[in-house]
Amino acid sequence: MIIKTPILKSKTLSNINNCNIWLKMESTQPSGSFKQRSIGNACSYYAEQGAKKFISSSGGNAGISVAYMGNSLNIPATIVVPKTTSQKAIDIMRQQGAEVIVHGEIWTEANELALQFVNSEAIYIHPFDDQYLWDGVAKIIDETIEDGIIPSAVVLSVGGGSLLSGISQGLSKNKLNIPIYAVETEGTASLNTAIKMGQHIKLDKVTGVATTLAAQQVCKNAFELTQLKEIKGITVTDEEAIDACFKFLDDHRTLVEPACGATLATLYNKKMDFSPSDNILVIVCGGASISLEQLLKYSSQ
Ligand SMILES: *Cc1c(COP(=O)(O)O)cnc(C)c1O
Repeated sequence: MIIKTPILKSKTLSNINNCNIWLKMESTQPSGSFKQRSIGNACSYYAEQGAKKFISSSGGNAGISVAYMGNSLNIPATIVVPKTTSQKAIDIMRQQGAEVIVHGEIWTEANELALQFVNSEAIYIHPFDDQYLWDGVAKIIDETIEDGIIPSAVVLSVGGGSLLSGISQGLSKNKLNIPIYAVETEGTASLNTAIKMGQHIKLDKVTGVATTLAAQQVCKNAFELTQLKEIKGITVTDEEAIDACFKFLDDHRTLVEPACGATLATLYNKKMDFSPSDNILVIVCGGASISLEQLLKYSSQ
């Protein structure tokens, strides 16, 4: 259900950045994103604890992973999503046998209904704020080291902060004290704003194409990490994120969401300075709710 992902050296991105760029291809997970690591681990844990049902309110890759895990573990999954959720995401969840209820204009409304279904056997799977999610993500670093790559820095995207939390945990476990570049789009910069202000802020609104990164506030753990570790915030524009998706499709024949394109944009547009001997680990977080048609639509807007 959760695969060991390939790690590939990108010649194109290595040349642009004059160092070694390693792509950890979480896009190849069966559900199409790194959420298979986080949600996959949490669902497996709760199944062992006797969960009879999974409840989620994510209209994005977290919900898709919950649906996938429910199908694989033969545990029914109910996912309440807001009206803004793409038909593609709903179709994927239903394909996996999940019950999908469309309710509410925004996520908080969908989430309120989802919480009403929760009981001692019907377990709520949080999209980003749970230790079991982070434990699953941390394995990305174990695998990287097993494959003989000792990273000098990691580049990743931030939404609610589970990817950041899990990668940071994996680095600590392997005694690697290296910087993490935490990338958001300008319209979803909840972590970057928190870093600048030194406070665990909540944005009034989030905007733009990187819907998967659109958390108004990162989880407490992610904010605390910014106070303890070398976490460098970077933002890109929506345009840069989309442009990077197209370039990546051509260079690496893989279609990813703008949420992942944000991370790739920092490398295509050389926003950091690395040394020639550096091994930079890039988490290609992927994303299943994108189509070429949608990407073309974004780019024409
Ligand atoms: C969830 C997700 C993110 C953001 O992860 P967080 O743990 O919420 O910070 C980034 N990219 C993709 C493709 C995702 O599915």
